[in-house]
Amino acid sequence: MWALRQYENQHGANESTYWIFFELLWREYFFWYARAHGRSLFILNGLRHQVAYSIRQDAQRLAAWQNGQTEFPLVNACMHQLVATGFMSNRGRQLVASCLVNELQLDWRLGAEFFERHLIDYDVGSNWGNWQYLGGVGADPRGLRRFDQDKQQRTYDPYGEFIKRWQGYQT
Ligand SMILES: Cc1cc2nc3c(=O)[nH]c(=O)nc-3n(C[C@H](O)[C@H](O)[C@H](O)COP(=O)(O)OP(=O)(O)OC[C@H]3O[C@@H](n4cnc5c(N)ncnc54)[C@H](O)[C@@H]3O)c2cc1C
Repeated sequence: MWALRQYENQHGANESTYWIFFELLWREYFFWYARAHGRSLFILNGLRHQVAYSIRQDAQRLAAWQNGQTEFPLVNACMHQLVATGFMSNRGRQLVASCLVNELQLDWRLGAEFFERHLIDYDVGSNWGNWQYLGGVGADPRGLRRFDQDKQQRTYDPYGEFIKRWQGYQT
């Protein structure tokens, strides 16, 4: 935030500096969220003890997701990238999390654990807070977030370039 303000003082504020500010607020939010809620961050039914929508612990489905062998090419590409590099874009994280929760109906914590193992920017509050949010048992009052995987692919990888980049990658 300090660096951002310094940049703005020198070069002026713009739309991009606003969005970095906005994203940093999320980081701050999940930091305090984790401090405030402690162990509730790791509970299947979340903070308010809502009933989790996805609760399966199916090893085969989980392996398909982890190895990038689902029926969704963009999800697979993102998972390959994660395992190969430790990186995944925010959009990718949302898509693969939605796939795990809504399409595979797995316990969201299995996804959070896998991210914990692989992300180079792993952070307890941001990771578990975001997963809980996408699992429909976290801070979001609107509940479950389901992404239309085909539409997301058409929007974010219309020519299949990203998918091709990570296609043959073996985990
Ligand atoms: C399921 C899931 C798990 C995630 N796990 C982590 C994690 O373990 N560690 C982590 O740092 N971020 C996590 N995020 C948040 C986000 O995906 C990353 O911070 C983001 O990809 C960083 O990209 P960037 O460096 O381009 O940041 P920008 O988009 O430029 O944002 C600037 C900074 O704001 C913060 N930020 C941005 N989006 C978020 C967000 N949704 N929640 C919290 N902080 C945010 C980050 O510190 C980031 O570096 C997760 C998101 C999801 C959906």
